[in-house]
This record gives sequence, structure tokens and C-alpha cells, in this order.
Amino acid sequence: SRTLSSSKNRLSFLRFNLRFRAMASHIVGYPRMGPKRELKFALESFWDGKSSAEDLQKVAAELRASIWKQMADAGIKYIPSNTFSYYDQVLDTTAMLGAVPERYGWNGGEIGFDAYFSMARGNASVTAMEMTKWFDTNYHFIVPELGPNVKFSYASHKAVNEFKEAKALGIETVPVIVGPVSYLLLSKPAKGLEKSFSLLSLIDKILPIYKEVVTELKKAGATWIQFDEPTLVLDLDSHHLQAFTHAYSELESTVSGLNVLIETYFADVPAEAYKTLTSLKGVTGFGFDLVRGTKTLDLIHSGFPSGKQLFAGVVDGRNIWANDLAASLNTLKSLEDKVGKGNLVVSTSCSLLHTAVDLANETKLDKEIKSWLAFAAQKVHEVNALAKALSGQRDEAFFFSNAAAHSSRKFSPRVTNENVQKAAASLKGSDHRRATDVSARLDAQQKKLGLPVLPTTTIGSFPQTMDLRRVRREFKAKKISEDDYVKAIKDEINKVVVLQEELDIDVLVHGEPERNDMVEYFGEQLSGFAFTVNGWVQSYGSRCVKPPIIYGDVSRPKAMTVFWSSMAQSMTKRPMKGMLTGPVTILNWSFVRNDQPRFETCYQIALAIKDEVEDLERAGITVIQIDEAALREGLPLRKSEQAFYLEWAVHSFRITNCSVQDTTQIHTHMCYSNFNDIIHSIIDMDADVITIENSRSDEKLLSVFREGVKYGAGIGPGVYDIHSPRIPSTEEIADRINKMLAVLETNILWVNPDCGLKTRKYTEVKPALSNMVAAAKLLRTQL
Ligand code: GLN
Ligand code: ZN
Repeated sequence: SRTLSSSKNRLSFLRFNLRFRAMASHIVGYPRMGPKRELKFALESFWDGKSSAEDLQKVAAELRASIWKQMADAGIKYIPSNTFSYYDQVLDTTAMLGAVPERYGWNGGEIGFDAYFSMARGNASVTAMEMTKWFDTNYHFIVPELGPNVKFSYASHKAVNEFKEAKALGIETVPVIVGPVSYLLLSKPAKGLEKSFSLLSLIDKILPIYKEVVTELKKAGATWIQFDEPTLVLDLDSHHLQAFTHAYSELESTVSGLNVLIETYFADVPAEAYKTLTSLKGVTGFGFDLVRGTKTLDLIHSGFPSGKQLFAGVVDGRNIWANDLAASLNTLKSLEDKVGKGNLVVSTSCSLLHTAVDLANETKLDKEIKSWLAFAAQKVHEVNALAKALSGQRDEAFFFSNAAAHSSRKFSPRVTNENVQKAAASLKGSDHRRATDVSARLDAQQKKLGLPVLPTTTIGSFPQTMDLRRVRREFKAKKISEDDYVKAIKDEINKVVVLQEELDIDVLVHGEPERNDMVEYFGEQLSGFAFTVNGWVQSYGSRCVKPPIIYGDVSRPKAMTVFWSSMAQSMTKRPMKGMLTGPVTILNWSFVRNDQPRFETCYQIALAIKDEVEDLERAGITVIQIDEAALREGLPLRKSEQAFYLEWAVHSFRITNCSVQDTTQIHTHMCYSNFNDIIHSIIDMDADVITIENSRSDEKLLSVFREGVKYGAGIGPGVYDIHSPRIPSTEEIADRINKMLAVLETNILWVNPDCGLKTRKYTEVKPALSNMVAAAKLLRTQL
């Protein structure tokens, strides 16, 4: 045992030496799921009761250890801890503060898995807490519910435990905690207090807990602490900013002796907020996103507090592209001139949580494209290489291969398609509107389609059975022939068509059985897209998405959906909707190239979809739905940038269908209920019919029409929630439709579910749709 402990000592001595030489490098945060989604599988197995809490904890501890080691070995100086989470870092903060809503029946003490996962996912008797998007990412956090009576207590020692855990491995880390002001600003008032309660009034109640945590971290040997205060990039007013000043002067004496880093990300910090931030008391360093926040660069150059440290986020945490090391080094050098040698730390633009984990696991990407990419594990090396270069130890080989990859990307014929570039460039400035206005078009369409009032339809997908998924998988793996595949899909479409006719639905869909995912399906058939095998990004809890990579100019080699859509149309006399994903949604659900503005890429996709729309029309499809499920997701965080985005996004949508005949009916579909703030942009899309999620929002959607917004196109606010297995009754649906009729003209209203039915079972879909049709028919008799 003596040899063991002395070799252990030697190891920590080596690590110490390594640390000593570590250059000023920092990582804001790191993905938790693991390179092969190990945490996802461990969580789901635990939730299913198939493994124990200890099993789950073991997987989690192994993941944490390997991440810390990876960063230490790469030479990172400031390694984050507490960026791991079993579900979500905001929920972890809620646990730390003991802010468990009463309905979960928690009785104090340290919060365990029971209370924690009940808040995240609900349990047999209580529903989960609300989940919402983390800024403009596809990550979702659990929204804290706070009121004047919440009794805060220090109820989760996770931050300290993880710090100690790393320390025991010989790795000193920077514990990361959601800052007190951002925590409150991201919360919502508990039910019933919506209008009356000021969340910031709780600041003096949560600061004592923060102080306890800081004190304990100090005792455990921490020398740095990172508070994430990303709300500083939002449009805040002066009383919000005062809360930061107040909170950090309150914390000042507690943090004394510790280095405090305040980290911001996702956009530039507005000038006022920058002033507040850089004047905060007790703070040693400030972190900025210099990828999305280029304006922050100017602010820093025009003034940075002397003696403070600048954590310069030059390596993009939101994308998968290799950093342009030469360009970053230039930026860093100019910053170093400003803030002084020794005060500059190289960092990531935000947590690497929002990018894929490790390029090493991409076995199917070709070598050239792979050389253009960097996932989280590679970004760690980029940060370190930049820090070393800055201190005069440039790794020539690393910089050389990086430069070579950049020029290969820049000049690759796979990236550039001049015809596409020209076509997209000619779009700017023009309007692309259909020639006739929407009410005349609706008349022309109605003559052709002859639909009843309150026409019924669905959003596109029908349940995807295990068999169906297997058929697709086997065809992809070439285990079954194309003939067998076509036959299987054809049978499935036929089943869906027959079912819809039996249900007496008016406008049919083919059910999308050939599609695994609404973006991937199109990406796979378009040029300019690449796909990963393990490029997963956490979306919420254990759920991950695998965004396609748009690396080049986008074009459509051949028709993508005409074969299946015409086959489906041939099976019925009723109108069969052609079903496409819109350009903005394809863009927002992909990793997008960073060598041209997003709107240019979007215009290119729009042109490809336009070709498809025209082919469908030529093939006799008279109703075409172009889904823009993610249009709102791309809305910039700051108001000053929203109008520009909405303009090109809506323009892109119009480009796809501006050329069709009046009698061709264009539908679109949107997946969110909160669209009141962008209603005018939605109207400006000029679709003939929009179907939109509605039923979960307490009819929030309808209030905009109540307030008098004029809407002349067809509209189908969802009449029931497809996210739940619950079967809505005819009366309930009829009641919903009646509420809609109170604010919308009868002749524009459509009857449909909230969204696609892909994740439901036929045993749920059949009765639910049957009740939906019955409700529409009932109301038709009463009009
Ligand atoms: N047409 C798609 C479907 O029904 C739309 C999905 C979505 O809006 N997310 O599956
Ligand atoms: Zn939807």
C-alpha cells in the first residue's frame, strides 16, 4: 500500500506540474450526456426501474471524471465543475435553494432523486414543472416557480460535492453556479401571482443560501467560482441592472479571498449592462461571448477595468466548425494589448453543452468534411492551443493543419455552387408574393376543393410503429430490397388513407411513414448537408437531437416527395396534402455554416423547396403544407435584431410558394402557442391556411384575435393536445371550437389536432380523431 500511495503522490505531483504550466485557458461548461449518450441510457434505465440509483450515480461519476481528466490532460487551467446535471442546471439551482414547489411534498433535508425527478418529470400524482427554452438554444430548462412564501434553504450540496470529487482526483476546478440575478429573472411567479409578484424582490432571501455555498466552497479549497449571468445579454431595464449591483455587493465580503468570474453568453452585452457588469464589486473576471457578441469587442476596446481578467469566448460553443485559429489569435492579441498581459484568458463563447461531444466517434463522415469540424472535445484543444500560442508557445503543426483545413473548406468545390449563389443573391430586395390576394385565392380554391365549413385535417404524421421503424432501418442498411421497401411504405400509406376516409376527414395526409425526422428527411436528399452518427446535443432531460450539418450551397438534385405524394393522392378522391418542411425550420434545426450569413443559407434552402412545391403542383397535388415548426425559435434574443430576422425568414417562406396557381392551397404549420408577438409576421407569410398548436396554451393564441387583429386566411388552432395519451371527448373539442368561433370568422376556421401524431398510438389516435370529426359535424349543424 505504500508503493500505491507514493505512486499516487507522484501522480499528483505530475499533475501539479502540469497545472503549473497551464496557460490561461477556460471552458465555460461541457456536455453531460457522454460521447455515446451514456447518461441518457443510464437515466432512462433508472426511470424505468431497471437499474438502481447507485448504478446511475456510478455512470454519472465516471462521466464527470473522464471529462475533468480530458480537460486537465489538454492543459486547461480553469476547468469547470458542477456543469454536470442529472437533468438541468437551473433545476439544480432550484434544488440548491430548496425552492421545491409545495405540491411535490418535499419535507426538507437534502434533495434526493425522488423530489428532483418529480419536479423534472412529474410523478403518478403531480405534473412536472414547466419547461422552456434556454435563451435561443434548443436546450430546455425547468422554470423555477417562486412566490413570497417560498422557504429557501440550502438543500443540495451538489456544487461542493462535485468540487471535492474532482479534487480527490487531483483536479482543481472552478465550480459553476447559475448566478442569483439570472436565476430570479428566469423564474416565473407561482400560480395565481402572475401579475402581482416581483421575482427580484426575493433576492435578499436567496443570497444567504448563495453565501452558504460560497463559504463551503472556500472551505473545500476552491480558489475560483463562476457565476453564470447570461441574462445580462437581454434587453434589461435599469431596475434589473440595479439587482446585479445589489446582489454582488451583498456577496462581496463572503467571496473575499476567492476569485469570482461572471460569465455571460449567447449575444453581446448591451452598453448599459456592460457598464454595470464591469463595475460589480468583488469580481475578478468577466466572461464574454465574442462569437455572437462582436459588439462586445468594441465595448472592451473602449474600456475595460484595469487589473481585472477578461475571459474571451472566441471558440464557438454553439456550432461544430473548427475555429479559425489565426483569426482568433489576432483578436486575442489585440485584446491582450488592451487588458494587459496576464489578464487575458482564452475561453469558449458559452458552455459546450450546445455542441456535439466528440468528433472521434464520427466514423461515417468523410475525411475532408471531418477536417473542417470541431466538437466539444476538439474545442477544448483549440482553447488550449490558442492560450499557448498567446504565451509564445505556438503549436506549429496544430496551427498549420487548422489553416490547411480552413483553406480546403474555403476553396472546396463541394462548398460552392455558383449557380445557387447567383440565384440566391438575386432574391434580396424583391418581395415574392403571390399575385392574387388571399381572400380571392381562398374563393378559387374552394371552388376546386368544395370543402364543408369547418374542414377537418391532420398535421401530417401518423403513428410510427416499431415495424415501420424497422423497415426504414433495414432499407437504409440495405437488408431489404427497394421493391420490398416501397411495398411496405405503400401499404402503410394505404392504411392511413383508408383510416382517414373511414373517419371522414376532409383533407388527407399520407402519414409520413418514409420519414424518420422532418428535417433529416429533406437534408438527406439535398446537396450541401452532412450527417453525423453521434453528433447528439441535449435538448431536455435525457432527450437529445442530432442536427444535420449544412456545409455547402444547398440545391435539390431531384424531386424529394413527389413519388410518395402522388402515390398517396392516387389512392383517394379527397385532396391529399403534399408535405414539406420549410426553409426556416430546416435552417433552425441544423448546424448552419458560419462562412456566410444565415439568411443566405435560408434563401438557398427556400429555392430548393420552391422547386419541390412546383413539382408537386405539376403532379396534381392541390394542397401543399410547408411546415415552419421552428420559425419562432430562430427569433433573436434582442428586440433590435428581431425585425431583420423576421423579414428574411418570412420572405424565405414566401419564396417557396409565390409561383403557384391561385387554386393551389398552401398550408403552413407552427408548433408553438405563443405567437402573439409575431402575429403580423405570420400574416405576412401569406399562407392560405395555417394550423397552429393551441390547446396547451389556455387559448392564449385566441386572445390576439380578441384584441382585434384582422386575420383573413384560413386558420386551424389545434383542438387537442397530441403530447398526451389522453383522448379528448367530442363535447370538449366542440367547446374548444366554439371558443374559436367566438373570435374568428366561421368560413376561415379549420379543425385539426395541435401537431403531428407520430408519437401517439393508433389506440389513441383513432378515437381522438373520431371525436374531432364528430365535433366538427355537430357544429356544422348548428351554424
Ligand atoms: N408534418 C409534421 C408532422 O406531422 C409536423 C411536425 C411538427 O410540427 N413538429 O409530424
Ligand atoms: Zn407541430
